[in-house]
Amino acid sequence: MHEGAIAAAIVQGALEALEREGLSSARSLTVLIGRLHSVVPDVLQDHYRLLKRERPPLRRSRLLIEIAPVRIACRACLREATIERPEFACPACGSTQIDVIGGREMHLKEIIGVRPTADGRRQKKKSESNSKSQIPNPK
Ligand SMILES: [Zn+2]
Repeated sequence: MHEGAIAAAIVQGALEALEREGLSSARSLTVLIGRLHSVVPDVLQDHYRLLKRERPPLRRSRLLIEIAPVRIACRACLREATIERPEFACPACGSTQIDVIGGREMHLKEIIGVRPTADGRRQKKKSESNSKSQIPNPK
C-alpha cells in the first residue's frame, strides 16, 4: 500500500518532468528515497511495472531506486553522521540532542528520455535530458 502510493507519486512526477523537459518518453528514472520511508525496493518495482503499462511515455522505462541513508547532526558535538538504525543518538558523543538531517528525502533524481525532433518525425538518435524534480508527497 505504502509502495503503491509512492509508485503513483513517482509516475506523476515523471510525467510532469517529461512534459517540462519536452521529452516524449522516458528510458530510465532514478529516484532517491530516504531510508526512513522504509520502502521495499522490489515491492516498489512491482507497483511501478503495473502503473507504467497504462502510461505510454513510461511504458519502456526502467526504474532505478537509490536509498539515502539516515543522517543526523549532533547539537552537542556539532558533528554529522550516518546511522544504521534510527537509534537517535550521536555515534560520536552519545548525545540524544540531535537533528535528523537525512533519510526522509524522496525525489526524482534523474530522468532520461527521448526528445522528439522539431518536424515531429521519429528521431534516429536519441537525445537525453536530465532533470531534478520533487516527487509529490504520497497521500
Ligand atoms: Zn555528538
